Amino acid sequence: MIKRLASILLVLMLTLTMLNGCAPHDPPTDTGNAPAPSANLDSAVEPGSNGDHGFDSDPVSTGGEPEVRLNIVCTVFPQYDWVHQILGDSADGHELTLLLDNRVDLHSYHPSVDDIVRISTCDLFIYVGGESDGWVEDVLLNANNSDMIVIMLMDVLGDGVKMEEAVHGADDGANNHDHHHHDEGGDEDEHDDEEDEHVWLSLNNAMIFCTAIADALSSLNADSADMYESNLASYIGQLSTLDAEYHAALDDAPIRTLLFADRFPFRYLLDDYGLSYFAAFPGCSAETEASFSTIVFLAGKVNELNLHTVLVTESADQSIADTVIGNTREKNQQILVLDAMQSITRSDLQNGATYLSIMESNLDVLKEALR
Ligand SMILES: [Zn+2]
Repeated sequence: MIKRLASILLVLMLTLTMLNGCAPHDPPTDTGNAPAPSANLDSAVEPGSNGDHGFDSDPVSTGGEPEVRLNIVCTVFPQYDWVHQILGDSADGHELTLLLDNRVDLHSYHPSVDDIVRISTCDLFIYVGGESDGWVEDVLLNANNSDMIVIMLMDVLGDGVKMEEAVHGADDGANNHDHHHHDEGGDEDEHDDEEDEHVWLSLNNAMIFCTAIADALSSLNADSADMYESNLASYIGQLSTLDAEYHAALDDAPIRTLLFADRFPFRYLLDDYGLSYFAAFPGCSAETEASFSTIVFLAGKVNELNLHTVLVTESADQSIADTVIGNTREKNQQILVLDAMQSITRSDLQNGATYLSIMESNLDVLKEALR
């Protein structure tokens, strides 16, 4: 009789532990299917013991499910994907939020009330820290979770942060990295000294950021630190492999210069492979209308360098590219899109796009543009 009761209790313990392991401790936002412990099982627990609480900290194996449910908020897609890669199979046991998830552009995003609540209560918040993230500081000042870990990518990169360059039609010194374009009279023109916030567009930077993310996850959930380390190592291996493919394909490319009839968020990427460029606007300038002199300058560069490709970013309407091409000698250049991952779509996410898959596609575009 005692034996039988003990085995019932053991089964009950395992059942409750499993339920605990799978069910979120916080009110779920997207899972409504966690079964409630059945009433008659509950009644088998001896009076006085309080249900599942006693089993919560039980050391019985939970089948690999994380016992800590982390709430992680990311601003842009690369961060969100990197967290996924480092959490690996355990990602489903945590709550991951991507704030800019439906074609919301980094440069026009403002947090909703709902977003602010999510950030202020999360365990790990990751943001870029550039000119587009001016709203972050206020939100963090009002955060409720004093144990929150915050990762600012530009902080992590430190001295590796580059300045935006003035690269436009009127400036013949375009593409000279050491050239700081200052108007003689206007020393207060701070746009010339803007830090380039598109730090994720370098595979080498990605390795640095992923290491910082793995460290943060390990300190939030020490029990899984070994797994995070091994996921990090294998992901860095994949990043290095792709970086080697970039070098193999681009180091001896016959053309060394790219022409963007658009904004230019790719400085980190091009610098990694020693490529030059001309662009209609520096960084992600708010300008959207290219001046006549810029169009003429870019069209002249297409002629001079015999370029067969004009590039744009994923959010461009291509009208500047059409105008540039219309002003060239040949008027037959192709327009290709290089993806800066600044405005990811929900269908991209559903189709399983990853940082690596997009950087692989970008390599194909570069190979074609530089052949
Ligand atoms: Zn941008």
